[in-house]
Amino acid sequence: MLKNKVPVLVCIAAFNLLILAGAYSQKKLTTIIVDAGHGGSDNGAVGIYEGSLRSKEKDVTLAITKKLIAQLQKELPDVKTLPTRTTDVFQDVRDKARLANEMGGQLFLCIHADSGPLKTARRQIGTREETRYRYTYTGKGRKKKKIPHPYRVTVPVYEYYKLPMQRSGTSVWIFAAHKTSDKLKAIMEGGEDFDVEAGSESDSAYNNFDFNSPEGRQLAQIYAKRFQERSDKLATYVIDEIEKTGRPTGGVNQRQVGIRVLQSTNMPAILVETGFINSYEDERYINSEKGQQEIAEAITDAVKRYKQQIESSNKNTVQLETKAPKEEKNAPAEFETRTTKETKVLQVQSDKVKVEIFDDGEVDNDIVSVYFNKDLIVDKKSLTANGYTFNVNLVPGKTNELVLYADNLGSIPPNTALMIITDGVNRYEVRLASDLKTNASVRFELKSQKPQL
Ligand SMILES: [Zn+2]
Repeated sequence: MLKNKVPVLVCIAAFNLLILAGAYSQKKLTTIIVDAGHGGSDNGAVGIYEGSLRSKEKDVTLAITKKLIAQLQKELPDVKTLPTRTTDVFQDVRDKARLANEMGGQLFLCIHADSGPLKTARRQIGTREETRYRYTYTGKGRKKKKIPHPYRVTVPVYEYYKLPMQRSGTSVWIFAAHKTSDKLKAIMEGGEDFDVEAGSESDSAYNNFDFNSPEGRQLAQIYAKRFQERSDKLATYVIDEIEKTGRPTGGVNQRQVGIRVLQSTNMPAILVETGFINSYEDERYINSEKGQQEIAEAITDAVKRYKQQIESSNKNTVQLETKAPKEEKNAPAEFETRTTKETKVLQVQSDKVKVEIFDDGEVDNDIVSVYFNKDLIVDKKSLTANGYTFNVNLVPGKTNELVLYADNLGSIPPNTALMIITDGVNRYEVRLASDLKTNASVRFELKSQKPQL
């Protein structure tokens, strides 16, 4: 995410703070909170390229939020849809969070507009005269003299201006609950005696929980994981609905945050970057009645699908949580639902192989998981320019396949990784590209060991 690192990170940092402890999941979706990002003295991003409408993110988000609330109320009349603000007022992100929690939100929709660094261009606006000097020399040794000869030249005068961004489109951000311990997984698979989707009566018992105790942390992580899955689901629906409008999209992006934030998540939440305020087309689109309405309708359709989905799955929650784990073990792993493209076959000399994995090229927040012989060995790791190292032990006679699974596309699709693989003798560099439909794999062939002399 280097390309527009600063603005997006500011928005995301604000988003993180919004998640505090409070009410927990209920069976029916009855309350949605819509937050118009920024406000008052906080303009958010501003259109500043040449020819820009000079629009401010805080105004765009408020306008879209109003249309979104109207649309949600029209389409889902039984659901309370409440704004965090209805006027141009400054709110600390903590205030936005407090409001959302106090209003009993079960879903938090944050509306923003994207931005990024702009290129500067120049054009000639005239000329001016300038005196320059040519020099000649007379004499020799100590008597050598430098004689200036002035002459006039005409030089161009330039004006500098900002070019609009070339990137455009809508993207959605969610949290990534990337660290799930084995113990947590065990609990989630129904080993412990409670129901994650318990009704409000039993929820109230957990409200007094000390979330810093080991049990509290586990419970909170379960909620966080559930919220993340739901946020991911809704985010995917939003992108899907946006795609139906023909707009470009930047897909669903995950942001890894500390466990502290995950612990305190109290409702599924998504952040919609509706468009780039510094893109010529996007700025006009997100400021237009038509564009704002189209975005409002797309998000509303996504929320409707989400509501239907969670409410029908909640009906089956008890069975799923308590009886399904055994069946789940036979279900295909997540990566098996995609096609896997074999990128490279490596002849290695040792059954112990070290793998270092990097983001290939520009670091753009690619998140990947790695499976080795169908076992998850790297779970949702954000790729950086600094490598992440792990070891695999090859099994003689087996396929020995390492599969790269894209958990997102990063900001510059596809999701690309550089793997540096060493077997103690040789070093291999393998570049892998995966996306949301295709995995990339490396297969190892174990060369027969040299006979010991
Ligand atoms: Zn923003």
